[in-house]
Amino acid sequence: MDFQRYLKEYPNAEGRFGSYGGVYLPPELEPAFRDITEAYRTICHSSQFVSELRRIRREFQGRPTPVYHCERLSRKIGKCQIYLKREDLNHSGAHKLNHCMGEGLLAKFLGKKRIIAETGAGQHGVALATAAAFFGLDCTIYMGAVDIKKQAPNVARMKILGANVVPVEHGAQTLKEAVDAAFEDYLANYEDTIYCIGSVVGPHPFPMMVRDFQMVVGVEAREQFQDMMGFLPDVVTACVGGGSNAIGMFTAFLADPVEIVGVEPLGRGGKLGDHAASITYGEKGMMHGFDSIVLKDAAGEPAPVYSIASGLDYPSVGPEHAFLHEVGRVNYEAVTDEEAVDAFFKLSRYEGIIPALESSHAVAYAMRRAKEMQTGSILVNLSGRGDKDLDYVIENYGYGEKYKDFV
Ligand SMILES: *Cc1c(COP(=O)(O)O)cnc(C)c1O
Repeated sequence: MDFQRYLKEYPNAEGRFGSYGGVYLPPELEPAFRDITEAYRTICHSSQFVSELRRIRREFQGRPTPVYHCERLSRKIGKCQIYLKREDLNHSGAHKLNHCMGEGLLAKFLGKKRIIAETGAGQHGVALATAAAFFGLDCTIYMGAVDIKKQAPNVARMKILGANVVPVEHGAQTLKEAVDAAFEDYLANYEDTIYCIGSVVGPHPFPMMVRDFQMVVGVEAREQFQDMMGFLPDVVTACVGGGSNAIGMFTAFLADPVEIVGVEPLGRGGKLGDHAASITYGEKGMMHGFDSIVLKDAAGEPAPVYSIASGLDYPSVGPEHAFLHEVGRVNYEAVTDEEAVDAFFKLSRYEGIIPALESSHAVAYAMRRAKEMQTGSILVNLSGRGDKDLDYVIENYGYGEKYKDFV
């Protein structure tokens, strides 16, 4: 495949990456999604939009975020060098703000008054509430009542930022019901509202739009690494939940002679229900309005999933990842909870960087590969910081006494 022309050709006009992607919506919503697609295609090329987004990234988000060489960690493992793209230093502590600011600016350009979304663990809700405060937009976040109880700090952040957090109190009262509630709201209010999806998932144009907004990560990192070293890394890697931080990193390297690896959460192991490694164990299927790879139960319905990292526990994956897997350009590997926790403590102790448990999966894979390779270099997208995970980690793993030694 010729990846020089990749961005021009994928997705196609129907929002397809090969046989994945597309748009499956209730008929009432089709015009609204067509409007967003149309508007985005025009606006994303306007110099006013592009220069405003650049200014926001520089002045509000603190971009570009640095690329950092983990000298001590690398030396502990051997001769292969590990580098991090520091999205944990992006304002609000993770890569998610990259697409939320893009979606907020699009809402502003379209003259909308209100942005809405669902959230599971609350990370997307916090990033979107941040964008809403910046742009002066109303913000409503749907969240399962069960999740609201578990994620008090993120609920507090959203409220302080001025968002209206609506508890969803039917069914299992978690993410799936929150998605349904957000869709219902959008159906009733699409004239003055935009529904902002939190990853490269959902119906077209969201997988494309969120990718385009996240691409800044890889474009910056490629140039920074090249400036530092004079060549490109041998391996580029990132964790994959829905896949937004990974696609943002990978896109810039698709046409390069660089190995690209997406890291899925293997949780407690390979049994259905114990992990969320959708590409590793899933099959073709449709959910939430797009074709992709889905983890299914015996009845063919989306299976229950689990990961220590709540940002990674989704039973499907962005359609572009399913495609890049199918054509063999990106490899997908899986990392267990235990390996992720080990990487969490080692990166903290040897580099002074406490990573999010999601990002710890990518660090764990880099450590595994560095040990095998014993030469060359690996660039990791460190998608977010770990402050949000401290209480959970301390309660379950103490202060990491057991995770000091390199073997
Ligand atoms: C939400 C989140 C992820 C997973 O989302 P993707 O769309 O797969 O990137 C990864 N890391 C962090 C820090 C997150 O908050």
